[in-house]
Amino acid sequence: MNTHKHHTWAEPYKIKMVELLRMTTREERLEAIRNAGYNTFLTRSRDVYIDLLTDSGTSAMSDRQWAGLMLGDEAYSGSENFYHLEQAVQEYYGYKYLVPTHQGRGAEHLMSQILIKDGDHVPGNMYFTTTRLHQELAGGKFVDVIVDEAHDPQSEFPFKGNVDLDKLDALVRDVGADRVPYISLEGNVNMAGGQPFSMANLRELHAYCDEHDIPIMLDATRTIENAWFIREREDGYADTPVRDILREICDMTDGCTMSAKKDALVNIGGFFCCNDDEVFRKAQNLVVVYEGLHTYGGLAGRDMEAMAQGIREAVTEEHMAARIGQVRYLGRRLMAAGIPIVRPIGSHAIFIDARRFLPHIDQDDYPAQTLAAELFIEAGVRTMERGNVSAGRSPVTGENRRPQLELVRLTIPRRVYTQAHMDVVVEAVTDVYERRAEIRGLRMVYEPEYLRFFQARFEPL
Ligand SMILES: *Cc1c(COP(=O)(O)O)cnc(C)c1O
Repeated sequence: MNTHKHHTWAEPYKIKMVELLRMTTREERLEAIRNAGYNTFLTRSRDVYIDLLTDSGTSAMSDRQWAGLMLGDEAYSGSENFYHLEQAVQEYYGYKYLVPTHQGRGAEHLMSQILIKDGDHVPGNMYFTTTRLHQELAGGKFVDVIVDEAHDPQSEFPFKGNVDLDKLDALVRDVGADRVPYISLEGNVNMAGGQPFSMANLRELHAYCDEHDIPIMLDATRTIENAWFIREREDGYADTPVRDILREICDMTDGCTMSAKKDALVNIGGFFCCNDDEVFRKAQNLVVVYEGLHTYGGLAGRDMEAMAQGIREAVTEEHMAARIGQVRYLGRRLMAAGIPIVRPIGSHAIFIDARRFLPHIDQDDYPAQTLAAELFIEAGVRTMERGNVSAGRSPVTGENRRPQLELVRLTIPRRVYTQAHMDVVVEAVTDVYERRAEIRGLRMVYEPEYLRFFQARFEPL
């Protein structure tokens, strides 16, 4: 723990190398966003000043992780780095078997193909874009069983990531437990604003799933952050180390998919884990088709070494204190400036409620997409939409899903930006807020078939 009394989240590291940024004018940024079809995913990083697009793969690695790159054992099979990674995963996550993949969606692909049969229903505590798509491509139907509070950006409920067991039970009664191959349980639910589930809820879920013989597959991507919130908010955990809470979570689940680009502090990598021999055998077999041999799964040996070290750093109390502390600093300053954001402040990002920020823009004119473009124009701050564009169209009606949450995500990369950078972000958001009445929405002029938010193009109305 950081024992300094006056600043509880000060960084437990100092800066050894810096990356210089290009400063741009408003005219340059206007041209850049026009060329990008008003989609921040299509802007070039050279035009960005503060990049809050995602916390995925954008972490700053430590000197030890960089040193790990030099220890890369680039043998095709049986790389030493695989065994280092296996050891770290078994120690901190505790699963029996590990299959590395190039990133999280590679693991989701393997798991979905192995576990889901055509016509199955896959309950989950809110959807994630790639997770749901892989479930659908495997013939499954995603069913949201998260608590109602998760869909209310103003609810202060401390465990918005919880599973609503009544919703789960209603599904199981309706379709039968044999049509539910597993429950997809995400730690610190991304689309709900980085919101945790509680250990009490997981315990109840575990008992229910045990009784109905339904495996729990964890999306472990941000589960160390979830563990931090359990320690902070849940009775009985105040003195439990984060790493022990992480193990307690994993021990109640049957396997996981992981995007190591988040919690694990690396620029690329992921894995699939399980405890079941048969599932492991299938995953080992399938990974050679889509990713690479089962001891590298699409990664270089050096990537696996950096990941093993990243996991060890990520589970420390001082890392998590600084990580969550910085996100909270930004959130509290925005709240003080009267900006409508999702409450309580989550782990990895601040989510601006675009419906309340731009109440005059209809959801089919994409208020969150519009606001993300405006923040880029204002100060070169790159954010992303998490609303009607990300949610896509209903496969049944073909209409926009018009989700309840219409958000702009300001995602904080780990160990990358300073407090002064956060202050610039607050100024940019506040300046856009002051001129919000003049802002008009967008019209989608190009819509890709899959995960449209990545490549869709827009024009101002
Ligand atoms: C990023 C993410 C994924 C997908 O992982 P990639 O490494 O981007 O393929 C899956 N689930 C959650 C919760 C994520 O945040």
